Amino acid sequence: MDTIVLKARGKINLTLDVVGKRDNGYHDLRMIMQTINLHDTITVTKTKTPGIRINNNLAWLPKDDKNITYKAAEKFLEVSNIKTGIYIDIFKRIPVAAGLAGGSSDAAAVLVGLNKLFSTHYSKHQLMEMGVEIGADVPFCILRGTVLAEGIGEVLTPLPSLPSMHILLAKPNISVSTASVYKALSVPDIQLHPDTDNYVDAIKKKDIEYLTTHMGNVLEDVTIQLHPQIEDIKQDMLRMGALGSMMSGSGPTVFGIFPSKYEAALAAEYFKNKCGLREVHVTSTFCKAKREGKRRHERKRHKHENK
Ligand code: ATP
Repeated sequence: MDTIVLKARGKINLTLDVVGKRDNGYHDLRMIMQTINLHDTITVTKTKTPGIRINNNLAWLPKDDKNITYKAAEKFLEVSNIKTGIYIDIFKRIPVAAGLAGGSSDAAAVLVGLNKLFSTHYSKHQLMEMGVEIGADVPFCILRGTVLAEGIGEVLTPLPSLPSMHILLAKPNISVSTASVYKALSVPDIQLHPDTDNYVDAIKKKDIEYLTTHMGNVLEDVTIQLHPQIEDIKQDMLRMGALGSMMSGSGPTVFGIFPSKYEAALAAEYFKNKCGLREVHVTSTFCKAKREGKRRHERKRHKHENK
């Protein structure tokens, strides 16, 4: 096998709490991350010419060692002592610098893809250890599903899969730097922390009513002060039938959980046509248990057919 195609899925935060700040400036987080089905497509190919080459479908996105996938490939090849050349093609759909972990997910897909291409048989845990050196969200993007993330985001506890939910993503036409949001955050001044422990219980009970009405993100106040249109988008989503709506990560993307794909699509039209938002996507939450069940079934069928 010389080439492999992978889906690099984005994420939303169902909760995001900052519980402290370390001497080195990093923040201690407690957050529940949820993989979504909106994905970039990553194609990784072995090449005869040595080195790492990158292409993507956005004119302004780096295609050199500034692309996070370069760092992932470099790390993998170095750890594995592999000298073969690599070509990475990225088709981006996940909005960039939007609080959806698009870059981290691309990096995760490259690690997973290279592990398969070179049959290196690293465990998921070993790939996650490589990933954390590239970015705090990369281990989550390798693990995927519904996960409690603590530490700087790298201490992960998998949670039971939630049933698939309809998600609308609407990104205002602005860019927000994650670093500037955390810089503006004063941890002692946080007024309202999400109740992460109760939220985890609600996930275990599959209490969708609680899950949609008790989301919380302590970074919202900071980013909304800089960009008040985020609050408008949230209110519009609720007005158009969302069961809950919140900013993801450090923003500026707002997501809404809708009772049906139809209602999410209607709201999407409004944000595109009436508000002029360029990046609006209807998607759904990724159900890891369903995916693993399907894989088990395929493996069984394959075994049976080859008997
Ligand atoms: P997070 O939710 O983890 O904070 P994000 O959605 O805020 O992530 P990304 O989309 O990962 O942010 O992009 C952050 C920065 O990384 C951008 O400024 C972008 O130029 C750079 N970058 C490098 N490589 C990539 C990539 N493959 N995809 C997206 N951004 C990339």
